[in-house]
Amino acid sequence: MTGAPITYPLQKTANLLLFLVVLGLGVQQAVTAPTANVLLIITILSLVLGVTLVIPIGGADMPVVISLLNSYSGIAGSLAGFVIGNMALIISGALVGASGLILTNIMCKAMNRSLANVAFGAFGTGGQVAAVAGAGAVAAPVRSVSAEDAATILAYARKVVIVPGYGLAVAQAQHVVRELADALEKRGVEVKFAIHPVAGRMPGHMNVLLAEADVPYTKLYDLDDINPEFDRTDVAVIVGANDVVNPSARRPDSVIAGMPILDVDKAHTIIFMKRSMRPGFAGIDNELFYNEKTLMLFGDAKDMASELVKAVRHAA
Ligand code: NDP
Repeated sequence: MTGAPITYPLQKTANLLLFLVVLGLGVQQAVTAPTANVLLIITILSLVLGVTLVIPIGGADMPVVISLLNSYSGIAGSLAGFVIGNMALIISGALVGASGLILTNIMCKAMNRSLANVAFGAFGTGGQVAAVAGAGAVAAPVRSVSAEDAATILAYARKVVIVPGYGLAVAQAQHVVRELADALEKRGVEVKFAIHPVAGRMPGHMNVLLAEADVPYTKLYDLDDINPEFDRTDVAVIVGANDVVNPSARRPDSVIAGMPILDVDKAHTIIFMKRSMRPGFAGIDNELFYNEKTLMLFGDAKDMASELVKAVRHAA
């Protein structure tokens, strides 16, 4: 089974009808004497509804949905606490419910998407890619760079900002990226890490990976702190990130319109480390690939970062 959303005609209507039937039967059971058969039907229909509500949600939106479902479990536990008169269950359920809702809200805000769009938008289907290809696709040449040349640019920079994204996690490149930062710092280069709140596939994904690689917390800068610094940055090195640096978010016709992004395009030079020209999670082209300041360093993030480390260490 792929992580792609599964959609079919009249899906939302069918789900709404199913929900109304379950609700109606629930009310009927509450006001009349409950019967085992109807309770069984409610249980089966609820299970079906659970599946049909979740299948149209794309795999990468799952962290949001899991957080929401966690919150539901807390609310259900809390309500069960009222039924059986258990104060501990009421309080713990309410805490789980509230924290899940808060986390869901934080994730939706960071993607500038509503919960309804996450739940019903079938984000990641071909329709959106086509829509964006029409609205903002750029057919221009890109400039690629070798690891040796990229290392020379980095070695002679004064300030470098590393922007990790989902590809860093895929490549498990966090340790070697830390080595790169260390090698640059040894040469007197100032190195900072720019952390976007939804880089990767779950909240705090980049923080966890970089902490695992012992990158000091003081070197991690969030969006609001690092954005004003990009115009004073010699080189921005994007390691497997894509949507979180896509300037098309500033255009109202973009699928990711309004999503806060890292202003990497303001850096003097941009080194984009990824394997191909393929898009990221949002499925849209990134005009930053074609920026005249951008150099594409094609390859697996871990392999490329290792080559950079070697070349930086040997730089004169
Ligand atoms: P993206 O998904 O936009 O891009 C990741 C990029 O990594 C791809 O373009 C891919 O390009 C590259 N990549 C993949 N594997 C490797 C590899 N081994 N080596 C080098 N590069 C690689 O990631 P971002 O982090 O920029 O953005 C996260 C996206 O996920 C956002 O759209 C966000 O809204 C969404 N999201 C985030 C959640 C969160 O909580 N963090 C939750 C739900 C959604 P290529 O294939 O060419 O290598």
